[in-house]
Amino acid sequence: MADTLDWSNLGFGYRKTDYNVRCYWRDGKWGEIEVSSEETLNIHMAATCLHYGQEAFEGLKAYRCKDGKIRVFRPQANAERLQHTCRGILMPELPTETFLEMVKKVVKLNERFIPPYESGASLYIRPLFIGIGAQVGVRPATEYLCMMFVTPVGPYFKGGFATTPYVVTRKYDRSAPLGTGIYKVGGNYAASLLANKNAHDLGYSCEFYLDAKEKKYIDEAGAANFFGIKNNTYITPKSTSILPSITNNSLMQIARDLGLNVEQRPVPIEELETMEEAGACGTAAVISPISRIDDPDAGKSYVIAKNGTPGPISEKLYKTIRGIQYGEIEDKHGWVMILD
Ligand SMILES: *Cc1c(COP(=O)(O)O)cnc(C)c1O
Repeated sequence: MADTLDWSNLGFGYRKTDYNVRCYWRDGKWGEIEVSSEETLNIHMAATCLHYGQEAFEGLKAYRCKDGKIRVFRPQANAERLQHTCRGILMPELPTETFLEMVKKVVKLNERFIPPYESGASLYIRPLFIGIGAQVGVRPATEYLCMMFVTPVGPYFKGGFATTPYVVTRKYDRSAPLGTGIYKVGGNYAASLLANKNAHDLGYSCEFYLDAKEKKYIDEAGAANFFGIKNNTYITPKSTSILPSITNNSLMQIARDLGLNVEQRPVPIEELETMEEAGACGTAAVISPISRIDDPDAGKSYVIAKNGTPGPISEKLYKTIRGIQYGEIEDKHGWVMILD
């Protein structure tokens, strides 16, 4: 039962909730939003998502706030990113309006699973978009399913906002310069599992990717974008193989609002030597400050947090974005969707 869950000790795992919502694309058009209490899908064994990776997903969160309201952070941006992904792998686009309707519905239907404000936990929303039409030749499907389920997830930082180490992977790439790195598709994750396991086995928080072509520039920190801070400037990589993170996009805007300069450009790995602060950013942790980045194959180690604690600017950015997500800081850019 939801009311007996130990909210603050939840991890980032799947927990059954009451309902999920589904919308099918058949005969060239979207149907009505359906509500289901089934946890399984019954799909054709020749579905294109199973064989050819015609699959996309999204991730966003709903928060129970101090004022009792439920807030969802930037769902329009997720709808637009999903449309971008769909164009990239030849799937029909789900209209933003339908996406938002599905988000509202799945959150409201599972309201009893939204963790209380005090717990620091939240409700993770997972939209999934798959080709379900049967196909053996390599071609896009003729039928699709877009569905959303939710699961309560614990606070990312159990012991408070803290730094962790990362390790550069030079043996594996996550995505090619002109590949699918810019799309949120499962294939990129399959490609990252081995590097991710190796990093974890060595005690690192996550693997750290350089650009696949030259291995000179920073790409991403596992499944999170990278940012560095120096000389009152927020610096984040510009690359054709990284996923455009909504958290990073928001932090760039907040940095400007706070009077920092913002640079989005190729960032050579050696530039880490001059970074005063650095972090990985994404929906899961929002900001995960980086203590150091080891590059064992190049015989280098970049220590970023000299005293091991997150820097003041990372802390300020974190507090500001969290404040906006929880409705405690003015939402100047109209990012938050309030459900009532
Ligand atoms: C989802 C994702 C991110 C983070 O994006 P957010 O919109 O901030 O959650 C970063 N990198 C990759 C590869 C991702 O899949």
